[in-house]
Amino acid sequence: MSVNVEAYRSLMNLTASSNALLVAVSKTKPNEDVSELYNIGQRDFGENYVQELLKKHEQLPQDIRWHFIGHLQSNKVKQIAPFVHLIHGVDSIKLLQEIDKVGAKLQKKINCLLQVHIAKEETKFGFDKAEVIDTANSYFVEGKYANVQICGLMGMASFTNDEKQIQTEFHDLKSIFTEINKIEGVINSNFNVLSMGMSNDYKIALESGSTLIRIGSMLFGTRN
Ligand SMILES: *Cc1c(COP(=O)(O)O)cnc(C)c1O
Repeated sequence: MSVNVEAYRSLMNLTASSNALLVAVSKTKPNEDVSELYNIGQRDFGENYVQELLKKHEQLPQDIRWHFIGHLQSNKVKQIAPFVHLIHGVDSIKLLQEIDKVGAKLQKKINCLLQVHIAKEETKFGFDKAEVIDTANSYFVEGKYANVQICGLMGMASFTNDEKQIQTEFHDLKSIFTEINKIEGVINSNFNVLSMGMSNDYKIALESGSTLIRIGSMLFGTRN
């Protein structure tokens, strides 16, 4: 139940030198662990479960930037939309439409990343390449989803020890990111976040152009 401060310091150095953001993934971990990192300066935290996020948001300091990194059900968008800093896992048009609708009601643009399916595994959510480019076009060119701010892309590599494969998957995601950045209208937008890299693959992710890594177990220890 305590934080690996040494790992935190080295991750902070690494992300600073790569111009990347470190999101500390605190899912399943107690408030005390979040507070411990908060007290040494961390402000960006990631959560996977809506109920847990709501509780932590209520109980912890209000200047924490909460990142929702899990699979989000459409009917739960309205619960987190008022305060969430960035929703990473937008993996369907249906979810994007719902976020847009909730954003309209709240009269704000909700920050989102489109999740791209890059892993070989069947279980990981996300758009495929054609779908994500299509969605980016309808947003940037046709002006759809006006109450959403699409800030970039998110992806998860396969869970494997094969570093070559992880690298290939991250390179795929980076190349889609680059391709979308060529769409007219993207240049003056805030499309600049490439969220990729976790405890076991963040080094490869940063080498492949990640601008945001999501680190849980390396900071907070293994989860049950
Ligand atoms: C749990 C989780 C993480 C953190 O994973 P670790 O391997 O503990 O660093 C990052 N991203 C997503 C989407 C997660 O669900």
